[in-house]
Amino acid sequence: MISPEMRLQIAEIVTQYHFEQTELLAVLSAVQKKWRFISADMIAVIAEEMDLPVVHVEGTASFYHFFSTQHAGKYTVYINQSATAEMAGLKEIIYAFESELGITIGDNSSDNQIGLRTTSCIGMADQEPAILINGTVFTSITPSRVSELVAGMKSNSLVRDLVRIPLEAQKCYPTLHTEVRNNIRLKGPVFFCDYIPGIALKKAMELGSLDVIEWIKKSGLRGRGGAGFPTGQKWASCLASESDQRFVICNGDEGEPGTFKDRVLLTELPEMIFEGMTLAGYSVEAKEGILYLRAEYSYLREHLEVLLESMRSRHLLGRRILGTRFSFDIRIKEGAGAYICGEESALIESAEGKRGQPRNRPPFPVTSGYLRRPTVVNNPETLGCALRIILNGPEWFRSLGTPASAGVKLLSIAGDCRMPGIYEIEWGKTIREILDLCGADRTLAVQIGGPSGTCISEKEFDRRICYSDLSTGGAFTVFSRDRDLLSIVHNYMKFFRDESCGFCVPCRAGNVLLVKALEKIMSGNGTLTDLDKIQELGIMVKKTSRCGLGQTSPHPLLSTLNSFSEIYRDIVRKDVDYLSQFNLESAVEDS
Ligand code: SF4
Repeated sequence: MISPEMRLQIAEIVTQYHFEQTELLAVLSAVQKKWRFISADMIAVIAEEMDLPVVHVEGTASFYHFFSTQHAGKYTVYINQSATAEMAGLKEIIYAFESELGITIGDNSSDNQIGLRTTSCIGMADQEPAILINGTVFTSITPSRVSELVAGMKSNSLVRDLVRIPLEAQKCYPTLHTEVRNNIRLKGPVFFCDYIPGIALKKAMELGSLDVIEWIKKSGLRGRGGAGFPTGQKWASCLASESDQRFVICNGDEGEPGTFKDRVLLTELPEMIFEGMTLAGYSVEAKEGILYLRAEYSYLREHLEVLLESMRSRHLLGRRILGTRFSFDIRIKEGAGAYICGEESALIESAEGKRGQPRNRPPFPVTSGYLRRPTVVNNPETLGCALRIILNGPEWFRSLGTPASAGVKLLSIAGDCRMPGIYEIEWGKTIREILDLCGADRTLAVQIGGPSGTCISEKEFDRRICYSDLSTGGAFTVFSRDRDLLSIVHNYMKFFRDESCGFCVPCRAGNVLLVKALEKIMSGNGTLTDLDKIQELGIMVKKTSRCGLGQTSPHPLLSTLNSFSEIYRDIVRKDVDYLSQFNLESAVEDS
């Protein structure tokens, strides 16, 4: 039963968010943070206070990783279990936590002081192993660091006091209290060069909104999230949609394992991104912008809020921007841990306080997006490019890259190389050139575009990063010849299995079956027939799934079956057509 005092405190939280149904995620996050769990009783109170059906609140609370019905510990430790974390010693870190605490993953210490969990990629592939403790990121973890952190948590230290801030960060970001390093390795002409806030916006206002859209179209800018939709066309369609209200959303939910460029942009160049949002708002006649920030980057929230306030005070945001009649403001909404929310329609659902399930399309967000109003959704990199186009002109932008892929691309390079980090390259570079840049040798494979992208072998290292060849949202993960590629594929496939939103059967069930089929191969019980079945099933999942997640989820298997077929063929049995993975003797061993 819920106490009257707790009921009152929940009501206060709901009041803080003005009873807005779109703020349900924020309310749930606040409740989770305060009590460390969200019980059925609490859900009933939230539903009553917000005038929402209980089933709606329950459905939302159960959708996201970072909400839990059970106590998650006064300190909740989420250990990142991505493939790059595995490569950097994840097993030792899990072992160290489990031995220090005497519990296993998924449990809490007996006094509920510390809860131990795992989570999908937290955007730190360049500094693994990494963990989150109550939302604060700790990077490059070692077993001895685990001992220190556990001791700190046992003695009730503030999480903030456990952070070791690198010297460079102390100098550059006084409002940012973090261990995360930016690792900018290659600066280019669009992002990591001179930027003075306000100049592009002033120029845009001199040009007028229609000309701004024309410039963006002429520049050839395409969305940098992976799909590559022409940005100018997106903005024009939004402007052309009849409505009393339009929105601009910056998709700060990069969840593709191996990607971390938006993390760096939001740390180093948030004003550029906010100005890019304002430029988009000016072009499509929107008055409101939302930065949807993934929960894993909530440590950036204070830093971003301070900059938003500073931009308001300089008339770069808010009412009557730069003394004109144009008003536009930006607020931040945080996710709660769900990869699918990187898909724009799922993100919109989540921003509205619902389960992050993709919508049927059409209608597309440009005609019916946030609150069913025309909405532009762009990621930080696209918005930054748009701003630079207004500063330097569309012809200048077109002169970079290749004729079909204009401009630059930010790559998040991680894995087996000496210099993991962010590289601003012109489109058109070959894989071989990029491997040289980041100091990779003895490379077996490169995963382009994260698990949903393509895995290529040395034979293909002369291929180019561009829309017409190897298109990518930015992840570039290197695997040396010492790596076991199948265990990496296994990690990726488990990621998709766990991140499927469960709406449609091919993705929900298909990914479970694909993981099982792969495990059968890895256990030595696979046959050539099983390899054919994996191909068949993978293609079926691709063709029949409802959204991009399911349509790309079989890629780790399909693309390695194509580029590294010998690895599979070497371990399957060729003397039989079928072997059961089910072993009766081991199944009844316990009983
Ligand atoms: Fe959900 Fe997967 Fe279907 Fe997409 S494909 S709607 S993630 S179940």
